[in-house]
Amino acid sequence: MAKNIPEIYGSLVFNDKVMKKKLPKDVYKALRKTIENGTHLELDVANSVAVAMKEWAVEQGATHFTHWFQPMTGFTAEKHDSFISPTPDGEVLMEFSGRELVKGEPDASSFPSGGLRATFEARGYTDWDPTSPAFVKDKTLYIPTAFCSYSGEALDKKTPLLRSMEALNLEAVKVLHLLGKTEVTSVSTTVGPEQEYFLIKKEDYAKRRDLIFTGRTLLGAKPPKGQEMEDHYFGSLKPRVAAFMHELDEELWKLGIPAKTKHNEVAPAQHELAPVFSTANVAVDHNQLTMEMMKRLADKHDLVCLLHEKPFEGINGSGKHNNWSMTTNTGENLLAPGDTPEKNIQFLVFLVAVIKAVDEYADLMRLSVATPGNDHRLGANEAPPAIVSIFLGDELTAVLESIEKDEFFKKPVAEQININTAVLPHFSKDTTDRNRTSPFAFTGNKFEFRMLGSSLSIAGPNVVLNTAVAESLRQFYEALQDVSSDKMEEAVHTLVKDTLKTHKKIIFNGNGYSEEWVKEAAKRGLPNLKSTPEALPCFIDQKNKDLFILHHIFTETEITSRYEILLENYSKTLHIEAKTLSDMIRRDFLPALLAYADKVACTVADRKNVVNLSCTRELALITKLSEGYEKISVLEEKLENDTAAAESMTDPLAASKFYHETILADMDAVRSLADAMEVLLPADALPYPSYSEILFYV
Ligand code: ADP
Ligand code: MG
Repeated sequence: MAKNIPEIYGSLVFNDKVMKKKLPKDVYKALRKTIENGTHLELDVANSVAVAMKEWAVEQGATHFTHWFQPMTGFTAEKHDSFISPTPDGEVLMEFSGRELVKGEPDASSFPSGGLRATFEARGYTDWDPTSPAFVKDKTLYIPTAFCSYSGEALDKKTPLLRSMEALNLEAVKVLHLLGKTEVTSVSTTVGPEQEYFLIKKEDYAKRRDLIFTGRTLLGAKPPKGQEMEDHYFGSLKPRVAAFMHELDEELWKLGIPAKTKHNEVAPAQHELAPVFSTANVAVDHNQLTMEMMKRLADKHDLVCLLHEKPFEGINGSGKHNNWSMTTNTGENLLAPGDTPEKNIQFLVFLVAVIKAVDEYADLMRLSVATPGNDHRLGANEAPPAIVSIFLGDELTAVLESIEKDEFFKKPVAEQININTAVLPHFSKDTTDRNRTSPFAFTGNKFEFRMLGSSLSIAGPNVVLNTAVAESLRQFYEALQDVSSDKMEEAVHTLVKDTLKTHKKIIFNGNGYSEEWVKEAAKRGLPNLKSTPEALPCFIDQKNKDLFILHHIFTETEITSRYEILLENYSKTLHIEAKTLSDMIRRDFLPALLAYADKVACTVADRKNVVNLSCTRELALITKLSEGYEKISVLEEKLENDTAAAESMTDPLAASKFYHETILADMDAVRSLADAMEVLLPADALPYPSYSEILFYV
């Protein structure tokens, strides 16, 4: 039965409509004020909100509530408490207080803290984030919260995000007021993440320890067919996948997540989902929920959703495009150029603020997407390079050039595109063509940051973007604050011009995948941080610490702790991968190789018994298999020894580098030989499914 979508949309969300209906007028007003301006919420108001929330949640079938938070694991965390409160006469009441709504006290000792939290200070706090709506899932009322330590240090991804949104808000409003937009009282950041993922059969997944333990395949010869036919991108959806996507949309809609676009991606078994954008913190929550729902519903359809950045060697990996812009409370997108961008002062100011930010903090942008999984993508000719640059498109670049040279900008007459059919109307060419190879592209009225890996929380990249742009705007305000209004236009013009002169080196409209760009970027002095261990140390560079501390995003202690968590996470991930690969080689692969060599040897012996055949080819095969066995054993032993050596290293940075340089190389060596041997084996020789089986049979 077709469901009424407007009716189910947001039906599990304590949204504005529900609040209006359920809350007393003055309480509703106070809450809206908190949501819009971040003002403190009095306890009596919180009490009243809690009562309404509980009532509504119970109507939706909820029996429990949870403070939902986003620790440094990159996943979400929750601890459920029921609403019940026993009465002396042996019955229960369903209760929920304002205090319980506003503050939680989970034990923080088992979450990554990077040495922030001594075990005797195990207590942590979760603080309600009223700007992201509560919702009901699995009979539980979910309350989005921020998570911090007993002494107030952020232990999560949400807190710095909220702080960075606040910093950008502060600086952007100041600049807008200077430009005469005094009616604007707040600026929020908007984010729309496009999420890529793979779907494979559950039975295949269950047989591969590499997928189970590491999220990616560590072995596997390339299938005869890859993505070369380009037949999967936007291809028609297979019924099983379509059914999954359909249910996913519906479940997301119920949670008020505006899932909008879905399609097959480039690689076989790869797909994408994009929602309509929302405020950054809500977008972060929604993206976490989306990833969780993808996994959960895949399971229901006997599929497994892989969110790893590179589940299959030789096949495109998965990323996430973070579309980002800034909007005023009066509804104006600050990155919308309007019809004549060269005259639109406000647009130019915010545009060059972003250009300056990305140029000055290109290293932090790179850092914000650095994960072991993403290292397999960046710079691998399928995802943007590890070098951060900005694509503006020809027209905007021409506009900026004319400003820089003090020339009059002549808008080219829009070219007509004729696609040679009578029925299709002729249309005007988009002023910015699509550029797929740029890590940070202007796409009409927003920037699209394309370096994110598919499993990453989008909080980090947006923290960096918001903060770096806030810093540009802070400096712009300083430069312009004393200019009289009749001189403002000229002063802004000079500011834009000077900023461009200094920062145009970050602009690159060409092919980001090319070798020439790598050379050219080096000439321009742009950082090329190829791997996570190379990128991470920039977190503790003085320039970057200053930025975060100045805008109250992180304290020095928080920076150090996060840096440590990131380093540790890198080494731990590779450690697990190395152990898993060794395990599969020793227990699955080598025995299969040996068994097959034995089998062929028996066949040869039998035949020689019966008739005196030479069996040259069989004997050659046995030799190949035996040599392979020998070589792989040696390489696997080296991997094991190096892994043991890595484990005993005490300096986290040195360890991460060792994992990157030595362990990864060991793993590659084992793998490439094993993959070359795999094609000699019979189809059923290995206890786990091959690439062909996994990728083409959903
Ligand atoms: P594509 O990148 O494929 O051209 P779209 O331009 O339609 O796709 O949008 C991609 C994503 O960008 C969507 O999630 C969309 O909601 C989001 N988006 C559009 N406008 C903005 C904006 N002003 N701020 C943030 N995200 C936006
Ligand atoms: Mg896109």
